[in-house]
Amino acid sequence: MEQKDDKLKEVISHAKEYGFVFPSSEIYDGLAATYDYGPLGAELKNNIKSYWWKSMVQMNDNIVGIDSSIFMHPSIWKASGHVDAFNDPLIDNKDSKKRYRADVLIEEHVEKIRLKIEKEVQKGAKKFGADFDEIQFKLTNPNVLRNSEKIHEIEARFKETLDNDDLEGVHQLIVDLDIVCPISGTKNWTEVRQFNLMFSTELGSVTGDASKIYLRPETAQGIFVNFLNVQKSSRMKVPFGIAQIGKAFRNEIVARQFIFRMREFEQMEMQFFVRPGEEMKWYEHWKQKRIAWHHSLGLGEELYRTHDHIKLAHYANAACDVEFNFPMGFKELEGIHSRTDFDLKQHESFSGKKMQYFDPEINQNYIPYVVETSVGLDRLFLSIFSASHKNEILEDGSERTVLSLPPALAPYKVAIMPLTRKDGLSEKATEVWNMLKMDFNCQYDEKDSPGKRYRRQDAIGTPFCVMIDHQTMEDNTVTIRDRDTMQQERIAIADLAKMIDDKTNVKHLLK
Ligand code: ATP
Repeated sequence: MEQKDDKLKEVISHAKEYGFVFPSSEIYDGLAATYDYGPLGAELKNNIKSYWWKSMVQMNDNIVGIDSSIFMHPSIWKASGHVDAFNDPLIDNKDSKKRYRADVLIEEHVEKIRLKIEKEVQKGAKKFGADFDEIQFKLTNPNVLRNSEKIHEIEARFKETLDNDDLEGVHQLIVDLDIVCPISGTKNWTEVRQFNLMFSTELGSVTGDASKIYLRPETAQGIFVNFLNVQKSSRMKVPFGIAQIGKAFRNEIVARQFIFRMREFEQMEMQFFVRPGEEMKWYEHWKQKRIAWHHSLGLGEELYRTHDHIKLAHYANAACDVEFNFPMGFKELEGIHSRTDFDLKQHESFSGKKMQYFDPEINQNYIPYVVETSVGLDRLFLSIFSASHKNEILEDGSERTVLSLPPALAPYKVAIMPLTRKDGLSEKATEVWNMLKMDFNCQYDEKDSPGKRYRRQDAIGTPFCVMIDHQTMEDNTVTIRDRDTMQQERIAIADLAKMIDDKTNVKHLLK
């Protein structure tokens, strides 16, 4: 646990030091769960967005992209179920004044009992050695049986209270389980309230309920309500997809863990519209496609796993998460959902407008079914950044911190450096920089010793460093250093662009 915390802390501090991510409003002591992307963070984020957009929109002739507004008609959120059901149950401790998610308090209590069982099993394994039969032990050990029964009872009671919207029951469960606030250590709890995660604001100068609008909690609804506009204007035929990248807002009750859970974040979503009955085929198709997309980044396939949902959201008939091994452990990175015809049907009913598609191939009108892929851009950023952040011990015993970002996503593709500022080397380096900057994001760097400059570029993930030295002035060759191997080779200035392009072009990821 401590190691995981340390890794996350290291990542946060590296991100700040080199201008990737800053806490928002820092000079005013920050604003909880909001972050700003600095110069290098903005570059990396743009490159991730562009890779996603290229692979989803440009590489598929049956997918188009849109950019819908954050504010939408409030009825949309009634229709989608967000006004009534996008809730988390919250509870406050009156002594510490700290707020918790009631469901999380109960889940953590259950987890503690699970750990007790785990310890009992470990004790048994030690005692019985090679003869230990774990299944038999769990079926017969009185302590394990008692604790398993406890978990079963708590979960059954908890499920019943949630199913019946019985918030008093959730409160009573917390009291009966003797759950105390980790800060104050007391059981002085308030009632449990449902807390809607949508931020609201007022439209224009008219006050009253009619003008209340929401900041969208997902980008998907902007796609659903534009379904026919897009289909008709782009002459799309089912099956087809609509993709969008944009901000979403959720008033998370407890938002921690850096950019993993924020109150303002960005989503990259694609809704794929299919014939009713064909949704499971497309669900499998997109599940495989999206996993392959993540693997294409080259961070290591062992860092990903999938988790199929057992309890499905009200709109879904199949759902799975792609999880990533973040510094805090495996957590959701992307959701892939088969959303049925729920959203389009709801919008048809709430707006009174037909949301049907005429399928010329089978001569039928229908509301299409939808398969959704939804990935958080900030979580993707954290996954790529944290997996690339490495402290290496080199052969000579020295250390270096390297950000081995996929070259196509690196903020700068190449750093141009004169060995010294004298003897016309700076001018020559500027010439090379001018030549390369049309094709690549290049950094010009002439401050400090070459060793220090190389380390700085390693730390921000620049795949190549080009050194202009005295020999350059004689024969127009330079040394080019590879970030990962740290090998240098001498090549002609005329060959630089091709060499850099060969390694850093996004084409390599797209293939
Ligand atoms: P979680 O269970 O972690 O709250 P979720 O299941 O509510 O996530 P979805 O509604 O499926 O998330 O949203 C799709 C994606 O949007 C998630 O996979 C995640 O990458 C991203 N996302 C959701 N909430 C946040 C948040 N508060 N901060 C950053 N990214 C988020």
